[in-house]
Amino acid sequence: MRIETLAVHAGHTIDPATGAVSSPIHLSTTFERDIEGTYSRGFMYTRNNNPNRQALEQGISALEGGAGAAAFASGTGASMSIFQTLVPGDHVLAHVDAYYGTSRLLREIFRRWGLDVSFVDMSDLSAVEKALRSKTKLAWMETPSNPLLKIVDLAAVAKIVRETGAICVCDNTWAPTLQRPFDLGADLILHSTTKYFGGHCDVLGGIVVAKTESDFFKRIRSIQYEGGAVPSPFDCWLILRGMRTLPWRMRAHSENAMKVAGFLSGHPKVARVHYPGLKSHPGHEIAAKQMSTQSTGAQDKLFGGMLSFEAKDGRDAAMSVAAKTKIFTRATSLGGVESLIEHRASIEGAGTTSPEGLLRLSIGLENADDLIEDLDQALD
Ligand code: PLP
Repeated sequence: MRIETLAVHAGHTIDPATGAVSSPIHLSTTFERDIEGTYSRGFMYTRNNNPNRQALEQGISALEGGAGAAAFASGTGASMSIFQTLVPGDHVLAHVDAYYGTSRLLREIFRRWGLDVSFVDMSDLSAVEKALRSKTKLAWMETPSNPLLKIVDLAAVAKIVRETGAICVCDNTWAPTLQRPFDLGADLILHSTTKYFGGHCDVLGGIVVAKTESDFFKRIRSIQYEGGAVPSPFDCWLILRGMRTLPWRMRAHSENAMKVAGFLSGHPKVARVHYPGLKSHPGHEIAAKQMSTQSTGAQDKLFGGMLSFEAKDGRDAAMSVAAKTKIFTRATSLGGVESLIEHRASIEGAGTTSPEGLLRLSIGLENADDLIEDLDQALD
């Protein structure tokens, strides 16, 4: 099946009891034993498993081409589970421009847990090679990155990392359906399903998808149900519902973002636009290679719905734009139908590496011309 068909059908079955086309939500926390005391229907207690969670895991795993998946109550909960499989003394190599929450998790929680953590610019392959150690057990790739939209060559980094035997993780939150990390060498894919999978800014979730049913992934599964950071049945239902329109939404987000990026790059008050769809972007060629053209039969390459730009006059000018937009809502997060704008440096606080004049945009599904007019009046 092609990706649009998979997105609509994976994880979905007609309810055998009622014929309901939209799956029921199973709120029950506990399930009946058979007469002989077993659970032949596969469910015992909702922390261990639940029909809606199972459907979500099967659906996203099929969409990514994986062997299985474990869903969590947030993207961060899913990331936690990956690091928790490691033991003190293990070395983790992470992209320097990874989502700041992931970097903070590594710095503030997992260094205390005894993990040795280093950050490297993974767009520089020789730096990746130099940073690997005999104790490197896991490499964390993320592309396009947040908020600078840096592009990591997934296939090239994964090739270097896998020679050491370390696990390769790709945070694919920003490019679902556009980028296929398993084909490029990743062992695990992480999504904050809060973003594009949910798609409507109304549900929190995360998932780890595994390429194979490895021992490493078995440990993640056990952390999922022993640790208990599981999503509710309703949240699973919402995220799977969101997945059904995901390839088409990604196409529209990407097409809109391309138009907005083009407008911003010609604007006199804008110093720099970070969008991999622009030919001037240093990662453009790699992004064009590893982000899909096939999804939804789009004629052009699709580069996702996220971009950032830097106001020429720095922080105050950026703050003024964020305060003046009327269609863009000034809020954090991304991946919903509505466009959002935010000043990353003030969100990230002390230690931020985001430029002070930078604004990040999550481009929604409004008409691109309205978004452009809104930014034009705010930049005025
Ligand atoms: N990964 C990326 C790339 C993100 O952008 C985010 C959140 O913004 C996360 C992970 C964390 O996800 P959550 O907020 O669902 O915990």
